[in-house]
Amino acid sequence: MRAILRAIIDPVFPTSCLVCRSFFHPGPRPMEAFSDQPIDLLIPFVCADCMKGLLPVRSPMCTRCAAVYHSEEGEDHLCEACIKADGSFRLARALGRYEATLMTLVHRFKYEGKIQLAKPLGRALFSVYNRFWQKERIDMILPVPLHPTRFRSRGFNQSYLLVKNWVKFSDTGFSVPPVIKHILVRIRSTAPQTGLSRKERGANIRGAFSITDAQAIAEKNILLVDDVFTTGATVEECARVLLASGAQGVDVLTLARA
Ligand SMILES: [Zn+2]
Ligand SMILES: [Zn+2]
Repeated sequence: MRAILRAIIDPVFPTSCLVCRSFFHPGPRPMEAFSDQPIDLLIPFVCADCMKGLLPVRSPMCTRCAAVYHSEEGEDHLCEACIKADGSFRLARALGRYEATLMTLVHRFKYEGKIQLAKPLGRALFSVYNRFWQKERIDMILPVPLHPTRFRSRGFNQSYLLVKNWVKFSDTGFSVPPVIKHILVRIRSTAPQTGLSRKERGANIRGAFSITDAQAIAEKNILLVDDVFTTGATVEECARVLLASGAQGVDVLTLARA
């Protein structure tokens, strides 16, 4: 019914672009099965011009952390940072690159409090999850938590909002692991990571997280979800704490990859 209504309404009433706010006619909605990139699921919400600034994370990239290489030729391979890393998370994937359109969308969502963005962004993120993770690989999803002080000032945890509605997709035949909020917590308020070097980020975030229920994560495969992966210091630290508390393995999914 909704699809029929949309087919009638869309051509008549234009939509406001979530990025530049101009009005546009979105045209037919892309079907997930036929879309080339999960990022294409944002076509109904973002005008054609802004869609051009939505850059997928494409090969060649790091097989572990999805860092995109400057050269557009060659095979995927481990990046230097991952070769040096002493192994915390196993795999990290993202919806798109933290540039242009996706950077604007993340800012609108996180800093301007446009939480209605959680729905389309969360849906596209789910498509990335389906593409890269086999059924049954993940036992539970943990959003990267905010410190209570930050949570109170922002009013929401953007990472949790991105995965909150995933349970609804289980009606459509997908297998969706439970999203659990209170196992991984932030016990130390840290300075923002923006503007810090890789090394400083690692030191800044060290000791910021704790596990409230080690039994619940014992031998479990965990998917950490965050908004942006920059150097990976935050998710490295979360993974370190989870593994030290008995988790089997930790993977990472973010909206954007710097
Ligand atoms: Zn636009
Ligand atoms: Zn890497």
